Amino acid sequence: MELIRIPALSDNYIWLLCDEDKHCVIIDPAESQPVNDILAANQLIPVAILLTHHHHDHVGGVPGLLIKHPELPVYGPEETQNKGATHIVHDNDFIEIKRFSFRIMELPGHTLGHIAFYQAPYLFCGDTLFSGGCGRLFEGTAEQMFSSLEKISSLPDDTLICCAHEYTAANMAFAKTVLPENQTIHDYDKKILKLRENHQATVPTTLQTEKKINVFLNCHHIDLQKNIGIKPNSMPLSSVFQQLRAYKDQF
Ligand SMILES: [Zn+2]
Repeated sequence: MELIRIPALSDNYIWLLCDEDKHCVIIDPAESQPVNDILAANQLIPVAILLTHHHHDHVGGVPGLLIKHPELPVYGPEETQNKGATHIVHDNDFIEIKRFSFRIMELPGHTLGHIAFYQAPYLFCGDTLFSGGCGRLFEGTAEQMFSSLEKISSLPDDTLICCAHEYTAANMAFAKTVLPENQTIHDYDKKILKLRENHQATVPTTLQTEKKINVFLNCHHIDLQKNIGIKPNSMPLSSVFQQLRAYKDQF
């Protein structure tokens, strides 16, 4: 399998996963033009569009792709039904097309219907987990998002986190204020700044890396709790997460 990352809009990434026969699936097409260009340049044959949630910067390219490929099935959660989805999927459903086999994971929080598509080692998780951060709580509760992140954390460490935005540098700036003594976070921040200076992408990342550098996966950390003004172990971790997310919203 080959993974192709296509920058779109200001900071989105559209992902293509391609098999050896040049079949590919398109995940969260923010726009159609850059995808159509890559398909043509590499002579790829699209076999499906996968949508993680209903936000415009994840579905905006669907109509433009369907003009060129009207038969293309579009898989997504119920909330994408009026955004072009032709096949509604639910938790633990499998999508089997050509050599692809994706398991659906329901991950509410950013939106209520948000899902991810998992085919080891690839996880297309939209706006749930970012490198160094997580999505904003637009529709769901902190508790829902916290358990969605726990669900992702239970996947193998070598899982490739294919998220939909280039937010890593800003997320690491925040991480440094939450865990200022953490050398791993400082080192990673330096690495990310260097990549961004050279206009390089910082994703995909691995779950193993995220467990070390993503503060939202470290709500159990005593120093983190202290640094955001929480008496250590005085509340459920989902409440620590809620305060951390609120703190980031104002950062
Ligand atoms: Zn979104």
